[in-house]
Formats: sequence, C-alpha cells, structure tokens
Amino acid sequence: MLINLSELLSNEGDSRTYEVTLDMNEFKCSAGVYPIVEAKPFTLEASNAGKRKVSIHADVHIALAVPCDRCLEDVRTDIDFTIDRVIIADVSDSEGIEVEDQSFMDGHDLDIDKLVYPEIIFNLPAKTLCRPDCQGLCPRCGANLNHGECGCDRSSLDPRMSVIQDIFNNRKEV
Ligand SMILES: [Zn+2]
Ligand SMILES: [Zn+2]
Repeated sequence: MLINLSELLSNEGDSRTYEVTLDMNEFKCSAGVYPIVEAKPFTLEASNAGKRKVSIHADVHIALAVPCDRCLEDVRTDIDFTIDRVIIADVSDSEGIEVEDQSFMDGHDLDIDKLVYPEIIFNLPAKTLCRPDCQGLCPRCGANLNHGECGCDRSSLDPRMSVIQDIFNNRKEV
C-alpha cells in the first residue's frame, strides 16, 4: 500500500492518521519464503515536522509461518514491533542533510511494505522450534519423529554421517 504524503507536507504542523495494510502475503528473505498468516490493518500516525520532514509512528503486529529448524513443520511466529522514525519526504531536495536508507519513499509516496520489511528481518527469532523437545527428522528416511517412530535403526548413525551415507547409497543404485 502506498500512502501519499503530499497533503500532509503542504501544512507544517499538520498531523494525520492512516489505516494501512500490507500488500505482501508472504515474506521473502535469504533464509526462505514465509507465508504471512496474519496481518491486521494498523494505524500509521504521521506529522509534518517541518523542512520536508515527517515523523511517523506505528505499532505493527504480524504472524508468519516459519519452518521449525529441526522438523521443518510450519510454526506460527508472532512478530510485534514499533516504527518510530523521522523520514525526509523528498530526498532529492534534502541537500546537506544526512539521509539514511529510505528506499520506502518514492517521491511523496510512502510504501508500507518496504517500510515494514527491514523491521520484520530485525525481529525474526534466530531459532524456530515447534516445541522445545522437537525430535526432528529421521536422518535415514526423513520421517518426522514427532509423529512416531519410523522403525529405522539409528543407533550407529552419527547425524553428520547421514549425508555421506546418502551419497554412498546413491552410488550403489547407479
Ligand atoms: Zn519441530
Ligand atoms: Zn526413519
């Protein structure tokens, strides 16, 4: 969703609130693509702080489906964050002013998805487990061991060896 800030920018001291929604329904990052399972509209407060500056504030809540690090099943991951920053509406006009990354601004349009994206990355948990004692996948057959025992003999199998074992088995089949 794009918010046009032109009107707000024409009145110094003016402030407005916008009900905004995300356009994206999945979150793409280097680690993968996570479906967005919940993203309620949220309120963006914006006020004209003079000299083409706009201070913005929003409390955002979204939920992503992130695969468990061990068994790869989707885990609902709730992410809450607050955006509180001053943006400069027209970077081309802001000579001499230190401008941080503002790729979410296109002229006077504020792109909500681009504004929120880095915040999601920053707030993603480093580790995702479906439950603390997740049993993971069987290194031999790939079965999800949370759903029960698959019957494989894993007694002598070092998990680090499973890759080598796979290569060996593939060679035998050829
Ligand atoms: Zn798991
Ligand atoms: Zn197995």
